[in-house]
Amino acid sequence: MSNINEKHISELRQQCLKEIEEATSLAELNTIKTKYLGRKGLIRQLFEELPNLSLKERREIGELLNRTVEEVENKLNQKLEEFKNVLIHKEHNFSKLELTLSGNKFYVGKIHPLNKVYYEIIQIFLNLGFSIEEGPEVEKEEYNFTLLNIPYDHPARDMQDTLYLDLKDFSEKLLLRTHTSPVQIRVMLSKKPPIKSIMPGRVYRHENLDPSHLFNFHQVEGLMVDRGVRLSDLKGVLTYFVKNMFGSDIESRFRQSYFPFTEPSLEMDIQCLVCKGKGCSVCKNSGFVEVLGCGMVHPQVLENVGIDSEAYTGFAFGLGVERIAMLKYRIDDIRLFYENDYRFITQF
Ligand SMILES: [Zn+2]
Repeated sequence: MSNINEKHISELRQQCLKEIEEATSLAELNTIKTKYLGRKGLIRQLFEELPNLSLKERREIGELLNRTVEEVENKLNQKLEEFKNVLIHKEHNFSKLELTLSGNKFYVGKIHPLNKVYYEIIQIFLNLGFSIEEGPEVEKEEYNFTLLNIPYDHPARDMQDTLYLDLKDFSEKLLLRTHTSPVQIRVMLSKKPPIKSIMPGRVYRHENLDPSHLFNFHQVEGLMVDRGVRLSDLKGVLTYFVKNMFGSDIESRFRQSYFPFTEPSLEMDIQCLVCKGKGCSVCKNSGFVEVLGCGMVHPQVLENVGIDSEAYTGFAFGLGVERIAMLKYRIDDIRLFYENDYRFITQF
């Protein structure tokens, strides 16, 4: 009966505990449990030999075997818990975090540069007490041209510039508005002065695409009609606008121009933002770039909408949102605004 002595039991115990310690899976633990504590297990078997021992030995060895079994079972349970914890952690994906890995990149949405400038322009005029007026993009020819004092033979009416709608059964000629000025007509037809409004919106032209032309773009026009509105009011409002848009130290100037719906008509220039007025290729060495058109509302336009041009005067202005954005951000190709190239639109 050499198998059943303290030394052998001690060796079995150590071997078993070592195997448990080194186990790497639940399956392995189960194998070890069967190997030592199963019905034919290496430790369990020893109990069968107890009856062959003397009473004294039986008690001593029996106690030793019981302690060994208890110890091995405890060790097995402890290891089992460890494995369970690892499994739970794996499920929740926080085991062995690799903290040096770079994170997943996620993208934050941004306002399109054109919208940004659009809202900025509108806000500046809201600050001056202008209200916002809107109108349809499909417009009557009468509102888009006739009432604005644009005669039938004016080149702006040419099919090259204007997109007419081919609606044979319709009594009036309809078109896609070429400017937001028909909204001015609509406002003056529906409201009595004082009027102080801006008309933001999308407009359409029959243009070939190139770096400075699109077939649709955005305008913000403004109109103020009241008793005693003067050219100096117009200049004051627009000077306030360019200083708020481009910086308080920006130089500006007004040049004489011609539009059928204003008299006198002016164009406003601002100091070239690239060369700061010194002269460069962008401003064709003039130091200034054109920013918008404006003027005093032509008395005939006031009369066309039933406003007494003897009692009332008004000013109007119109600017291109894309143009302002191009000047502000120094963009030299208008088409970039509509290509939605991520690399472009995230720069602003
Ligand atoms: Zn310049």
